Amino acid sequence: MKRTGIFFHYHEGQRLRDFPEALEGILDKDNVFLYDAFYPSKPPSDFDLEPIPEEMLYQVHTPEMVERVRTSGVFEGALFSASGTVAAATRIWQGEIDNAFVFTGCGDHHAGRRSFGGGCYFNGAAIAIHQLRRQFGLGRLAIIDTDAHHGDGTWEIFEDDEETLYVCFCSGSYQEKNNNVNIRVPWRVTDEEYLRLVEQDFLPRVKAFEPKAIFWNWGYDGTQGEYGDIGLTPHSHVGLAQRLKGAADRLCQGRLVVVLCGGSRRDLARRLIPQVISVLAGLEPHD
Ligand SMILES: [Zn+2]
Ligand SMILES: [Zn+2]
Repeated sequence: MKRTGIFFHYHEGQRLRDFPEALEGILDKDNVFLYDAFYPSKPPSDFDLEPIPEEMLYQVHTPEMVERVRTSGVFEGALFSASGTVAAATRIWQGEIDNAFVFTGCGDHHAGRRSFGGGCYFNGAAIAIHQLRRQFGLGRLAIIDTDAHHGDGTWEIFEDDEETLYVCFCSGSYQEKNNNVNIRVPWRVTDEEYLRLVEQDFLPRVKAFEPKAIFWNWGYDGTQGEYGDIGLTPHSHVGLAQRLKGAADRLCQGRLVVVLCGGSRRDLARRLIPQVISVLAGLEPHD
């Protein structure tokens, strides 16, 4: 059974209001570890998440952009979001846990080198990849992005980087560059069609690429009734999680970092996040 780390920090707003309470029945498992930052009435955790040093941001973002985020009003939340992803990746690499789920308030894939938007301030996955390379000398790493929108920030950061496979699933069409690949998703899809795209267009690529770890930018904003609705049902996410966990287990000793991206509905967060974490931890996901 894999050891799963949950990297949590309290964030303003409705979407994550039910957490961490909604993880009841998961947090008490022996192979699940909670790593958290301060928040009101927090239960005991295995580790208190510290914000990453600012100089780590400059591996990916320009100082001018960091200054603009500093005055945006969400600087601390953005730092903790990126910190969770960096901490998850380094602790997986050090062998403390096998996979991780990162709650982000302000991440991830629209944050580029010098620009941010769409609720994304720092690109946690990109910072974590740079940090893994600097600290441990890691080479090939992969990101799959199943948020409904194009990950323009991640795309820009890695378009000249052959050591990073970035596979973005969205409705746009972008020319493949180095190992940046865009998989075009129709405006309306069924769960089966979407999962087939992942099986056909991601799994063979990531297998051939042989990454040391896989990052999954997971948004649920493509679910029916969400702001990026492409027709997916809530069930699609368990299917996705099972496929990507399976790929990580087969290809890179289970090293998978799930980074929460788009999605706004509180009821869907309460239902889907525990399901995805359950798949990571090898527990039965409840509907
Ligand atoms: Zn999105
Ligand atoms: Zn895209």
